[in-house]
Amino acid sequence: MAEPDLIAAVATAPGLGAIGVVRISGSSLRELLVPLLGREPAPRRGVLMDFLDSQGQAIDQGLVIYFPAPHSYTGEHVLELQGHGGPAVLQRLLKRCVELGARLAEPGEFTQRAFLNGKLDLAQAESVADLIEARSEAAARSALRSLKGAFSQEIHSLVADVTTLRMLVEACIDFPEEGIEQLEAASARPRLKALLDRVQAVESAARQGSLLREGARVALIGRPNVGKSSLLNRLAGEDVAIVTHIPGTTRDVIRQELVLDGVPIYILDTAGLREARDPIERLGIDRTREVIRSADLALVVVDVREGLTVDDETVLGELPSGLEKIIVLNKIDLSGGSAGASESPRGCEVRVSALSGEGVDMLRSEILRAVGWRTGEEGVFLARARHLEALRAAALHLVRAGERYGEFELFAEELRLAQEALGEITGEVTADDLLGQIFARFCIGK
Ligand code: GDP
Repeated sequence: MAEPDLIAAVATAPGLGAIGVVRISGSSLRELLVPLLGREPAPRRGVLMDFLDSQGQAIDQGLVIYFPAPHSYTGEHVLELQGHGGPAVLQRLLKRCVELGARLAEPGEFTQRAFLNGKLDLAQAESVADLIEARSEAAARSALRSLKGAFSQEIHSLVADVTTLRMLVEACIDFPEEGIEQLEAASARPRLKALLDRVQAVESAARQGSLLREGARVALIGRPNVGKSSLLNRLAGEDVAIVTHIPGTTRDVIRQELVLDGVPIYILDTAGLREARDPIERLGIDRTREVIRSADLALVVVDVREGLTVDDETVLGELPSGLEKIIVLNKIDLSGGSAGASESPRGCEVRVSALSGEGVDMLRSEILRAVGWRTGEEGVFLARARHLEALRAAALHLVRAGERYGEFELFAEELRLAQEALGEITGEVTADDLLGQIFARFCIGK
């Protein structure tokens, strides 16, 4: 296989900044050091140097850090040039690196190399991107937990348990007469049950993490003047709303982004969800219905003094039946009622005053509960849809394995599929692993 080539990229965000970093990685990096820097810098030290052009003139001056392989982010030789953070300087520096044999790196290519060189597994590599893209402190903390390997360790430990169970079952295939007894003696059934419980617990933690990453979509519904804007401002409270683009939504549909307990909440606009008089207005309504279909929760705001109007009832009646709903009875300061939450046949009802803030904390908790935020973020892994799918597949195969208990070959096959699903998370191919482990437990000479 050809040696991976030398890649270079500006590692800092575009625009003006005090410092801008160019990063270069590859096995042939050393050939570039003398022409670019005049001499080879000491490894893993910050050294102030000139960055030289082809005439030996300085393009910029800055700190250089040289990480010889394998002790670097990618596992290859890596050079970081910390120059002045202006686009002209950084582009010239990048061009100079290309002149010296590097090519421009593809997105994520440094991390991809780190994965290929065994510096990170797949789940960790993904968490690098998740950490950078985190929209709240809670999301950033759980991405870091995944990056440091907490999620991967959990998966490795599950894989190890599946492997042990597989070995037990596969040993029975050749001795079917004694098989069941052997399995019973080795507590295969309770082990399988414990394993399934653990996979489900990890899936639940991962589902929470996925909520931190993806956020929830809340359709805000209510007639004019019931207090929707005031309520949003109250809900936002001290949280800084970071407006980001979620793929698959047009910008104008998202009215506002809130962060509640670290969970990004996208408030979707449903203005126009009323009887349409003309075709254009009707188009707006169709679009709004589409928005509502994509929502995780409908927040229906009404003035507590009017209660649900005929219009509101119509809208509620049209909402998809599986959709979580919260009816907010606003302006309790005017009705003299007290704040509180209660269940009604139509959904959860929360009485608040957007003006005084009474009941708004309760509403926050109800929203989080309705979108599925169960725990605090402790122990949550910032997971992706891919991880959830893999965990669900693993759980399914473990359930099927239980159903095939006496049929050793099918039992073993379901376990193998469960292991494969888990291995997809960390990016391992597991077939050879299993062989390796089996032989490692053999006595020498046998
Ligand atoms: P929207 O049209 O549904 O977005 O309603 P707004 O948030 O613009 O509120 C309409 C009016 O009701 C404004 O004058 C608000 O100050 C007032 N309002 C909103 N919430 C409350 C509340 O809880 N109590 C009282 N007294 N007034 C409120």
